[in-house]
Amino acid sequence: MDKVKIKGVEVFPFTSVDELIEHADRNKGILVAVNADKVIWATDETREIINNNIGYCDGAGAVLALKKKGADGAVRIAGCDLWLEIIKKLHASHSFYLIGARKDIHDEVIDKLRREFPGINIVGHRDGYIAGPEERAALIDDVAAKKPDVVFVAMGSPKQELLMHDMMARHKAIYQGLGGSFDVYSGHQSRAPKWWRDHNLEFLYRLMIRPKRIKHDIYKFKFAWWLFTGNY
Ligand code: UDP
Repeated sequence: MDKVKIKGVEVFPFTSVDELIEHADRNKGILVAVNADKVIWATDETREIINNNIGYCDGAGAVLALKKKGADGAVRIAGCDLWLEIIKKLHASHSFYLIGARKDIHDEVIDKLRREFPGINIVGHRDGYIAGPEERAALIDDVAAKKPDVVFVAMGSPKQELLMHDMMARHKAIYQGLGGSFDVYSGHQSRAPKWWRDHNLEFLYRLMIRPKRIKHDIYKFKFAWWLFTGNY
């Protein structure tokens, strides 16, 4: 499939989630949600990262830009729901490795996935609190040894991006960074109401209900731009 360039940022004009998953499965890479911000604020660095991975449209502005360039069928794919779509589609045939969140929450996520997707092949998993460089290296070794088809990392930015980058250098797979999605899936944190999500304002909703985190969020947001990804 040909990519479409918007201000030098290359995005795949996927026409469905299925098409995205099939492409990612064939080509491997880190899935990167692209929205208008990431196009407007792209730097040489962020552009390069998106262009070397699998950029897909996660925003109305990006879809519009693709359509203007002639990619009529492009649709918006919500990054925050994508990981469960991937599991739904691939759990009977593919292997998974999951990393992230607090140990108790992480274990709940694994239990819930095994209940919802009986037979799911989870070849490895661990919580997201990695004690130091040795533990981190051991994790990367383990992923390379177990060769999962799909790796999800839910540690927040930029940790998850840095980790996925280092893992990808050792073992090619479908990678997706999930931010706080494990907290949401296990019921420890609720999603923003639908209206906020539909308008790409989930981040704003979260700032409103957790104003004390504004500093952290802004810092993280800048960092995430710098790196390439969004959080869900
Ligand atoms: N987290 C983690 N390891 C870390 C730091 C955070 O696994 O070293 C997890 C944290 O438990 C939470 C997720 O990363 O499940 C996202 O955390 P946070 O809400 O701070 O990030 P955001 O979703 O806002 O990026």
